[in-house]
Amino acid sequence: MFGRSARIETKTPEQILRMRRAGLVVGQTLQLMAQTVRPGITTKQLDELAEEHIRGCGAVPSFLGYHGFTGTLCTSVNDEVVHGIPGARVLAEGDVISIDCGAIVDGWHGDAAISVVVGGREAGRPEDLALIDATEDAMWAGIAALGAGESLYAVGAAVEDSVTEAGERDQRDYGIVEDYVGHGIGTEMHQDPQVPNYRVREKGPTVRPGVTVAIEPMVTLGTSETRILSDDWTVVTADGSRAAHWENSVAVTDEGLWVLTALDGGRARLEAAGAAYAPLD
Ligand code: MG
Ligand code: MG
Repeated sequence: MFGRSARIETKTPEQILRMRRAGLVVGQTLQLMAQTVRPGITTKQLDELAEEHIRGCGAVPSFLGYHGFTGTLCTSVNDEVVHGIPGARVLAEGDVISIDCGAIVDGWHGDAAISVVVGGREAGRPEDLALIDATEDAMWAGIAALGAGESLYAVGAAVEDSVTEAGERDQRDYGIVEDYVGHGIGTEMHQDPQVPNYRVREKGPTVRPGVTVAIEPMVTLGTSETRILSDDWTVVTADGSRAAHWENSVAVTDEGLWVLTALDGGRARLEAAGAAYAPLD
């Protein structure tokens, strides 16, 4: 089902610089959300604040109105994996919330997600903290596996290996969600190719400088299986186990990688992974 298109659309350095502007709006909005999440706040309040911030930056929320979606954010709590709709739900101490955000600047998109414990890490169950960290680490492992001349599917292999290693370390049997995957990004939020978060047999398309993709593993404390609630949006784990979701939009440049939605461009985590940090600004 993947890899039909041998070539991936590439962007020029000028276009990637525009995507960085959108990426920074997304990164700053998520930072604001991380600072704002607390027990007693509703997901709708977070959503309103995110919309105000994005518009205040001169950007446009990309999720709002997307196939009829009613939020600026996706807010997915506990067993919700992705696509949760902001609403009247009041967040409680110890909840795990995944916040996904997209914004458009001058027609160019950024897309990223974080997962945090409501009330801060000290309020989190140990298994939830381990899940959140394992998912974030898997995202960075996937990003670091992006390389010009390499198969795009090296990303999924790296994500899977990272989750497996974390499971051995944490003595947990994490599930990697396969029903939803990463994607190309640019003048549309979702472009070809798909970027699976697991090892696939096919060789896959070859990464080249100018490729821009969103890498977004979703990991659970139980099953890989998901179902969709009757609101036709909210994706939950089939077994009710909690899930985490991390995402960044990344550009492959001539010299390495630039994480467009990370405030530091990905510098800290790329260097820690031994990957080349190569911004264009
Ligand atoms: Mg997203
Ligand atoms: Mg995405």
